[in-house]
Amino acid sequence: MKVSEDRVAGSEGVGQLAARWASENPSSEALSARAHRSLPAGVTHDVRRADPFSVAVARAAGSRKWDLDGHEIICYVMGHGALLLGHGNAEVVDAVREQAGRFLHPGAAHELECDWAEAVIGLVPSAERVRFTSSGTEATLLALRVARAATGRPRIVKLAGHFHGWHDQVSFGTDPPFRGPDTAGLPPGLEADVVVSAADIDAVSEVLARRDVAAVILEASGAAWGTVPLPAGFLEALRRETLATETVLIFDEVVSGFRWSPGGVQQVAGVQPDLTALGKILAGGMPGGAVCGRADLMGALALSPGDPHRVAHPGTHNAHPACAAAGVATLRIAASGEAQDQGARLASELRDALSGVLSRRGVAGLAYGESSTFHLLLGQQGAPDSLPLSKLKAGVGPRLSSELHCGMLLGGVHLFHGSGFLSTTHTERDLEQTVEAFAATVPVLQAEGLL
Ligand code: PMP
Repeated sequence: MKVSEDRVAGSEGVGQLAARWASENPSSEALSARAHRSLPAGVTHDVRRADPFSVAVARAAGSRKWDLDGHEIICYVMGHGALLLGHGNAEVVDAVREQAGRFLHPGAAHELECDWAEAVIGLVPSAERVRFTSSGTEATLLALRVARAATGRPRIVKLAGHFHGWHDQVSFGTDPPFRGPDTAGLPPGLEADVVVSAADIDAVSEVLARRDVAAVILEASGAAWGTVPLPAGFLEALRRETLATETVLIFDEVVSGFRWSPGGVQQVAGVQPDLTALGKILAGGMPGGAVCGRADLMGALALSPGDPHRVAHPGTHNAHPACAAAGVATLRIAASGEAQDQGARLASELRDALSGVLSRRGVAGLAYGESSTFHLLLGQQGAPDSLPLSKLKAGVGPRLSSELHCGMLLGGVHLFHGSGFLSTTHTERDLEQTVEAFAATVPVLQAEGLL
């Protein structure tokens, strides 16, 4: 409590909403203090860092979770987008429980890995073969390796602002200033083989014309699950250019897969990539990822040791049975498209209502997004497709971010960095409470001079 009282007393950088939220959450604060003694920054994922500290969760069910101090919170983080069916879906939990009772790791073939692969092939239009990994990061890593092996070319093109996990090759140009390395610790020289391009077909085509690019990788939804929409016709044009230059086209559908539609963005757009990286919903809230795509490209994984064209891919937990069980149960429910439609309908309603709050308060900005997602754009005039990457993805300042998130938490709503995912478990009542929390928060932000 001491720290909270200091904050209330006006320590620099802490706004009134953050101070109030901190004072009402002593258990989260105590856990954060404990975590700082064993975990760098007190967290286990960079995006879970929060100011003044992270909310700590005791349990979750459906669209809700309960923090350690007993507050009930509507969750829009939804397992970083993995929980299309909400927290604790009964069929998913039962499938995991049953599988845990059978075996966790047979170190051999098992039926669930076939069930899972067949489900992916049944849903994702471009999927002919599947190789499971343990995460989305591993999926993009493997997809790039397959592409290099197939083409014999060294370079990859990624788009500015697009995120593909944390491995070295994709750790360029994702965060402001959207060029150069995103992290310390990258091997020197790697940048020579990673071209970060604007999402501009002329710019990408110019690079591909040199015919030394193995693959173009991009978030098919636009950067950060649609935070930065792609120009109209971009996917089609990119498909044409990559075919013309024999470059592998990789869609990263780790977020958009099974969410934008049962077959992801590629099904909605009618554009088929050569390879697709999957994760999140694929494994129904358990760890998991996959690369799927053309049988001829994926065939490199089937070559015998000693063959110079063979792509090696071990991985202790690939297609882990408990993850496969959750994935199969989730994809079975997600196959009809109803879950996606229901989430998208609610998200559209929520985006309109949140935008309405901003316009009634005379604040520039709006809530936008596609499918069952939303993104808040605050303090900017104009439609998202007319704004540059730097305005859309740079994020709000730390003080506004902290005040916004704490204000929403005080109203019982957990946003995911000014954005959110809806699930089949969110309700009209959840939306009403979310809009009420936003309507109560925005005037405080205005009064503090943050909006
Ligand atoms: N690609 C995209 C588009 C992602 O959003 C993420 C994770 N947020 C990843 C890849 C990496 O997935 P994971 O966190 O499972 O490694």
